[in-house]
Amino acid sequence: MNFYRDATWVLEYVEEEDKKDRLSGSMQTLVLKSCQRFKLKSDPKHLYAVLDSCWRYKPYLETIMRKSEIYRDIPKKKGKPLYSKLTLLLLCHDLLVSKQKRIQMGKLPIKEFVLKHKARLNSELVKLKLKLGVKDLSELVDKDEIGNDVTPVRWIRINPLRCADYDTTNVLVELKRKFPNRADHWADIQPGSLYHDEFIPNLFGVHPRDKITSHELYRQGKIIIQDRASCFPAHILNPGKDDVVIDACAAPGNKTTHIAAHLQPRAGNDQSPRIYAFEKEPARAKVLKKMINVAGCSSFIEINVGDFTKLAIPEKFKDVTGLVVDPSCSGSGIFGRKSVDSHNVAKKKADGELQVPEEEEKMVEDDVKDRLNKLASFQFQVVKHAMSLPKARKIVYSTCSVHAEENEQVVIDLLLDKKVQQWGWRVAPRDKVIPTWPRRGIVEEFEQVFRDDSEKCQRLAEGCIRALPRKDGGIGFFAVCFER
Ligand code: SAM
Repeated sequence: MNFYRDATWVLEYVEEEDKKDRLSGSMQTLVLKSCQRFKLKSDPKHLYAVLDSCWRYKPYLETIMRKSEIYRDIPKKKGKPLYSKLTLLLLCHDLLVSKQKRIQMGKLPIKEFVLKHKARLNSELVKLKLKLGVKDLSELVDKDEIGNDVTPVRWIRINPLRCADYDTTNVLVELKRKFPNRADHWADIQPGSLYHDEFIPNLFGVHPRDKITSHELYRQGKIIIQDRASCFPAHILNPGKDDVVIDACAAPGNKTTHIAAHLQPRAGNDQSPRIYAFEKEPARAKVLKKMINVAGCSSFIEINVGDFTKLAIPEKFKDVTGLVVDPSCSGSGIFGRKSVDSHNVAKKKADGELQVPEEEEKMVEDDVKDRLNKLASFQFQVVKHAMSLPKARKIVYSTCSVHAEENEQVVIDLLLDKKVQQWGWRVAPRDKVIPTWPRRGIVEEFEQVFRDDSEKCQRLAEGCIRALPRKDGGIGFFAVCFER
């Protein structure tokens, strides 16, 4: 029973973090943290194996349990349920989906209680499998990704640059043939269904299990896999036929090719670049070049390999009117990647050490703060440099981080900078920055600085866009537009 008690505590902790949208670390880190916090005796590796699996199956198990009415039958003591729903979830997990399909516990009342419901649970399991059209629930659960690290939607963008006359109709017809069912909301996407996004033109959502990388449309560059939030910057910048754009931190090139989709190459012999893409890492610049070729826009993009802040001399880029600045960040909004919070712990884990002493945990936290500060100062420098370009009128700054240090706080530092003020840069208002997107910046961050001007704080926060990982249908993201 001790194992199930320990596992329940960890699961409670994981649920709490999930509710606060703080599930940025890996399940392994969360198990490790709670083992230390609650001084648990169970083997962390065993706990992790069970909890990781239980978390992946949780939505299905909860449906089965609810329908079997097991919750309704929980005996009570002094009016309170005798068994925790999470402990029951763990037992049901072991009974229904674990390899052995049995509860690893002596003859205890809670086990007897679950076994009393075994027939109903199994019958609900069969019904659910029929409904979802699978032989086994494991078909719905990605084996090599942590449950929370799986994107809820695979977003695909039709690339007009690979369509005759930039007309996307034929590609859409083909997409509809491949995905015949229509989903009205991204959360309703099932395998085989297609969701037409309401925020970004030419963007569609399909089920993550629907593999499209082998599809002809993908190979021909007619569709590009790109998370919805990652499409925000080019959409916000919305460059037109007279614009010249810099993508300051370009590889692998999702945003570069999306910017290109907005600009249509000039007719005639004018081959001058319309987009200057900068990338510091030579190896990543190669990937960028490949992506630009596949997307069919190499003729009007110039790739510059090196540091944007050094290479993009204002006098040399006098004609640039708009910029997208998407610099390296902690990546805390991205699935399947360890956030900075879990970075060092994850390294330990990779070395086979699962226990991290308390003082080291503290060091991890200090490291996190230190790293965020360094990233924020680098991000500030890159945007400030972009602001120094003489003809620039619009700059979109974005990160795939959930940390305010890299987002609102960078915006604040820029607004307080004397040069930035002299150059006349302001945060663009909400009506120019996907106004219908509901989740905006964190107003409290602005209130800490511009204390006596709540209207200004509100306006600034409204000018920012945030997306939460998973909850908003994709990666965690931040975007803001500066204009003058
Ligand atoms: N915008 C890209 C996209 O949508 O595909 C992703 C950009 S990624 C977050 C940041 C990129 O900026 C990395 O490839 C990194 O090597 C590059 N980078 C970092 N510092 C840079 C700098 N000072 N100048 C140019 N590129 C830089």
